[in-house]
Amino acid sequence: MRLVVFGPQGAGKGTQSQLLAEKYDIPAIVMGDMFRWAIGHSTEVGRKAAEYVRTGRLVPDEVTIEVVRERLAAAVGRGGFLLDGFPRNTAQAEALDEILADQGCTLDAAIAIEVPEEISLARIMGRLVCSSCGRVYHLDAPPARDRVCDRCGGEVAPRADDTDEHAIRERLRLYHEQTEPLKDYYKRRGVLRVVDGRGTRDDVLDQIMTQL
Ligand code: ADP
Ligand code: ZN
Repeated sequence: MRLVVFGPQGAGKGTQSQLLAEKYDIPAIVMGDMFRWAIGHSTEVGRKAAEYVRTGRLVPDEVTIEVVRERLAAAVGRGGFLLDGFPRNTAQAEALDEILADQGCTLDAAIAIEVPEEISLARIMGRLVCSSCGRVYHLDAPPARDRVCDRCGGEVAPRADDTDEHAIRERLRLYHEQTEPLKDYYKRRGVLRVVDGRGTRDDVLDQIMTQL
């Protein structure tokens, strides 16, 4: 299974991506996590990406596409992948099609999760993330032990770019301007699947599974 998942910040894209990757036993390639890891470890990619991630802007395509190309080379042969957070604009979507064509395959589905802006904002503002495994929590649904991840014992805290209101607004603006047009892109290719992200985690997963 070869999947792409996109949606505005707070749509539940990260949560659904994890669930789907487990169901299909495919690696979830999470763009934001890859950048945060690279920044935390001061790699060359990390140094190039840091300022963009901090201010909520898109890391330049040439950096992002190279990261994905390398990561996908390993995944494609082994049963597929799920991409979370890539592509985020048309140039990235075209690059992905080329990378896959080179490997002799195409996408099975591009899943768009939709939520209204108020829900999106409320979810991001209360979001807590495990710094080790990336599991997402919320102030309204925190881990059982304060700041300790239920799954891996890692430290659970708000993400730096989630507490900066300016960065949040910039990410939402960029989503509408650059990422939303991907709906048309994937519709034309016949792989778009749209789901309503307002329900519970299981509702949303059911909608996705019904459409796949
Ligand atoms: P969110 O979906 O809440 O914006 P992510 O964890 O997906 O959070 O991404 C965090 C940051 O990483 C983005 O604001 C951006 O700076 C960078 N980033 C992630 N994916 C991409 C991408 N495909 N292209 C460029 N930059 C990206
Ligand atoms: Zn964890």
